[in-house]
Amino acid sequence: SRLYGVRDWGAEYFDITDEGNAVVSLKFGDKTIQVPLIDIVQGMKDRGLDMPAVLRIENLLDIRITQINEAFHRAIEQAGYQNHYRGVFPIKVNQQCHVIEEIADYGRRYHHGLEAGSKAELIIAISQLRDHDSLIICNGYKDEEFIELGLYARQMGIKCFFVLETATELSTILERSKALGIDPLIGMRIRLASTVEGHWNGDSGDRSIFGLSTHALLEVVEQLKQADMLHCLQLLHSHLGSQIPNIRNIRSGVMEACRFYSGLIEEGAPMGYIDLGGGLAVDYEGTRSNSTHSMNYGLDEYCYNIVETLQECLDPLEIPHPVIVSESGRALVAYSSMLLFNVLEVRDHKPGHIPASAPEDSHDMIINLYSVRDHITVDNLQECYNDSLYYRDEIRELFHHGQASLRDRALAENLALAIWEKISELLPQARRISAELESLPELLSDIYYGNFSLFQSLPDIWAIDQLFPIMPIHRLDEAPTRSAVLADMTCDCDGKIDAFSYDDGYHKTLPLHPLKSGEEYYLSVFLVGAYQETLGDLHNLFGDTNVVSVHINEDGSFDFIREFHGDSIADVLSYVEYDPKVMQEQFRRLAESAVREGRISVPMRQQMLRAFNDSLNGYTFFER
Ligand code: PLP
Repeated sequence: SRLYGVRDWGAEYFDITDEGNAVVSLKFGDKTIQVPLIDIVQGMKDRGLDMPAVLRIENLLDIRITQINEAFHRAIEQAGYQNHYRGVFPIKVNQQCHVIEEIADYGRRYHHGLEAGSKAELIIAISQLRDHDSLIICNGYKDEEFIELGLYARQMGIKCFFVLETATELSTILERSKALGIDPLIGMRIRLASTVEGHWNGDSGDRSIFGLSTHALLEVVEQLKQADMLHCLQLLHSHLGSQIPNIRNIRSGVMEACRFYSGLIEEGAPMGYIDLGGGLAVDYEGTRSNSTHSMNYGLDEYCYNIVETLQECLDPLEIPHPVIVSESGRALVAYSSMLLFNVLEVRDHKPGHIPASAPEDSHDMIINLYSVRDHITVDNLQECYNDSLYYRDEIRELFHHGQASLRDRALAENLALAIWEKISELLPQARRISAELESLPELLSDIYYGNFSLFQSLPDIWAIDQLFPIMPIHRLDEAPTRSAVLADMTCDCDGKIDAFSYDDGYHKTLPLHPLKSGEEYYLSVFLVGAYQETLGDLHNLFGDTNVVSVHINEDGSFDFIREFHGDSIADVLSYVEYDPKVMQEQFRRLAESAVREGRISVPMRQQMLRAFNDSLNGYTFFER
């Protein structure tokens, strides 16, 4: 059996039982409840929800909101910090209605607010928040309509901040607020010189496309003074980048932000809020390191660092402590969702049948391949590998020129595979191995074809080489004897997963179990709650997957709180401007003319029309 590193990346929310099932593991007081994912999959099947599917565990949204808020409260209390924390969830990280509704609902007791980066997101935020102590933070470019919406929210008592990304936005804000007679709440996004490690290091530094330069910031202050509106400037905003793996970067970013904060107070702005953006990382690989997919700190350390740094920087200047705002997205939602899919088939790289000895009149190269196969030892692995490649390629060359048959070629390829298999088995005993030989097991690994689209459900794997933890959800008490890469359903060579993290290292293959006939084999990609759903696209017209939201109860039972059927084929066709009704009519005409020409009977026509309509209304993924 194998643990796939679950006790490192699972953050105690996921585990494996002795029976070999992957479980969601939740604490209710001092009681731990474990729910096997395979039971939830069975429940989905019973309700007609096929694979692939996104499974959301509602409790994990609640738990993450609680943990982030409680960690800040603890840090604030311990350090004697003289103000409070207000979190806001950036809607772009997961805009799905039921996720935002749940966050707004669970977040209410902490006054957890929302961050909007567009008009559409602001409309979501205004409609979801019913609590005047929560914040709405508006980032991004804002036109007149955006600004008016925000001003109306302000007028109704919502603490809605416009964060200035550029100096030009200010004139529209001033003009609209004067016209409507509503005082805006204004924040300024600064461009920090501090840079961070990790993939999103372009969000900060001099060349960042976001935020105001120091010079532009002073211009804004000047404009506000002239308009007699400096009292509206109350928030400083900085965002160093998402998934910051190194805590030292966070500390230096906060320090720099404090310098700006005190500078603005010196300029006469009242201030009162410091918004440190997102960046709190998720340990996707569970190594607790400063690698791109990990983090070298924990949640408590993150909060203490922020609180302490603020105090250290502001206390000597006798500046009152501001409200601490953070916009954690990934850290709040990543754990709550997983992508479940079944494996459709496996292509292995095992050699086909090889006769015990070379057939009569075999080509010399084939006889040589037999000889190589029979003389492999741990001391001549490289030599045997080189020879096998040479002889196999010679036969391919002869085939090319019509001097070797299809059967010669098949035998040569099978012999080469058999030789590599044997070399691969002996590799662990070899004293030194070349890079070529090192990659041999990967070359011989299986391809497991999964019922999912990487582009629809896991776009970050394709776009930015994101690593997500992946493991089977059952049979984990059996040793996984196969080594595999995963291929998706799209006809795209990028539609594969061949980078994994487990056993404290990076691997190009994943250990998996052989398929059993007549039995489904289910895998799960974990920690996919952030960014994946709406960044996904319709490559090959695979649409949205089924989605279920489950709530786990204290007695270990679970309720299907929400079920959403994924896109039908008619849905995805209409997204690309086809009209399914017109397509139905075209198909009907085609079938009718086939009847007229005597190619098919009328009952056959009916059968074909039914099949066409069923397909249109069916799921875009593989249906058993
Ligand atoms: N706030 C802003 C302004 C962002 O651009 C982002 C994402 O990059 C976030 C918050 C969320 O970051 P994270 O998901 O790392 O918490």
